[in-house]
Amino acid sequence: MEKRMVKFYSRENNKLALHASSGHFATSNSHINYYIDVTSIKTRVREAKEAAAILSTRVNPMSYVDTIVCMDGTEVIGAFLAELLEQRKVLSTNIHETLYVVEPELNNSNQIMFRDNMKDKIAGKHVVLLLDTTTTGETIRRSVEAIRYYGGIVEKVVSLFSTINGINGMSIDTIFTAEDIPGYQAYEPHDCPFCKKGIPIEAMVNGFGYSKL
Ligand SMILES: [Zn+2]
Repeated sequence: MEKRMVKFYSRENNKLALHASSGHFATSNSHINYYIDVTSIKTRVREAKEAAAILSTRVNPMSYVDTIVCMDGTEVIGAFLAELLEQRKVLSTNIHETLYVVEPELNNSNQIMFRDNMKDKIAGKHVVLLLDTTTTGETIRRSVEAIRYYGGIVEKVVSLFSTINGINGMSIDTIFTAEDIPGYQAYEPHDCPFCKKGIPIEAMVNGFGYSKL
């Protein structure tokens, strides 16, 4: 699979590329014909910084931001994003005059949770939710719901790659869209043309990467 990876460059910044491999893959909510790999953007400091610079322009400078909630291993980007928002003097209600960058846990039922020592970084805080790849928006829906349970106010949702531009009335700002990957398709699992043809699923994919079947 690694050998089939093709690079697709950002139209906004030619130092930033995602990798994609064509095939038949299952996410937790959909079947897709390209496995999108943003690992290098999440783990290479220079690329994470470039990504954060683009995402920082998507946050309204007049909005409040107290906390960045990082899903799918996006903390490096989250830290740079927090720094850029501080430099741009985005408003914050935090008494320490700095932003929080946090990662939630998933409990045994795959629900997003924050431990007692993390709750005050969410309760009453203005939150930017940061994700790596978004196809159905199901992770966003569950994350926004969890943040609200804990009393947080979701101000903005940003994703490195997204095939949708909103969910439940909440817009999603992204660096890469499906248009950057010609032929990209996501299907409801029961409506997947590959499954209908009896083509086996090659790998399960999630925010951490892929595991071959
Ligand atoms: Zn399928």
